[in-house]
Amino acid sequence: MQMSILNVKDLSFRYNKIEVLNNISFYVNSGDYIGLVGPNGSGKTTLIKIILGILKPNRGTVLLFGVNPLNFKDRHLIGYLPQRTHFNLYFPATVKEVISSGLFLKKKRVKNIDRFIDEIINEAMKLMDLVEIKNILISELSGGQLQRVLVARAIVNEPDLLILDEPTTALDPETRERFFQTLQELNKIKNTTIILVTHDIGSIGKYASKLLYIDKSIIFYGSFEDFCASKDMGSYFGEFAQHLICHRH
Ligand code: ADP
Repeated sequence: MQMSILNVKDLSFRYNKIEVLNNISFYVNSGDYIGLVGPNGSGKTTLIKIILGILKPNRGTVLLFGVNPLNFKDRHLIGYLPQRTHFNLYFPATVKEVISSGLFLKKKRVKNIDRFIDEIINEAMKLMDLVEIKNILISELSGGQLQRVLVARAIVNEPDLLILDEPTTALDPETRERFFQTLQELNKIKNTTIILVTHDIGSIGKYASKLLYIDKSIIFYGSFEDFCASKDMGSYFGEFAQHLICHRH
C-alpha cells in the first residue's frame, strides 16, 4: 500500500465571516505530483497554509504524515517554497549560507558533522546548478538564480513532501523549463511527493500526474487522463478550454 502523505477531510475555513474553503476532502499518496490550480482568490494559498499548520481550520481534519499539522514536529520531512518570500535580498549572505539556513539535522549522531553538512549542501547545490556561484552574495543574483537558491534551500533536507507556491513567476522560459525538469527528477528518482500551486493550467499537465482544481470547493481531483475524459469538466470549463488543458499532456 502507498503511504498517505496528506489526508484532508471535510475542511472548511473562513477569514472572519468570509468562507474561503468549503468542505474540502482529498488525499495525497507518496510519490504523487499534484498541480494545485484555481482562479485568483480560490483559496490555494490558504489551503497550503492550513496543510502547513500556519492557519487553523474552522471545520474538518488534516493529517500530515498522520499528524495534525498544528502538532507536527518533523519539519525536515517538508520543503516549502512560499509565494512571496519575505526574504531580505540585501542580507549579506552567500548562496551557500542561504541554502544551509534551510537545514534541519535529522541524524544527530554523525562522525564528521561538518563534512556531513557540506555533502548535503553540495548535493542540493549540484541539483539546482549552483555550485559555481556558491560564494556569491544573494544580492548579486538574477531573479532566476535566486529562485534556484530558494528551491535548493527547500530541498536541502531531501524532504518527502515538497510544496511550491507559484514558483515560476520570476523565471524566464528556459530557466522555467529546467526548473520543471529538476522537479520531475526529484519526483521520479527520489520519489519526492510534490504539490505545486500554479496559475498555469495550460501546461501543468506536462509535468504533474494529478490535478487538484479548487474554487472554494474541489471542482476536480484526479489524474489528467480522467480530467480530459470527463464530460462534467468539459461542461464546467467548456470543451475548448478542456482541450487546451489536455492537448499538451
Ligand atoms: P489564491 O491563493 O487561490 O489566490 P488565497 O488563499 O490567497 O487564494 O485567498 C482566498 C481568499 O481569501 C481571497 O478572497 C483573499 O482575498 C482572501 N484572503 C486571503 N488572505 C486573507 C487574510 N489574511 N485576511 C482576509 N482575507 C484573506
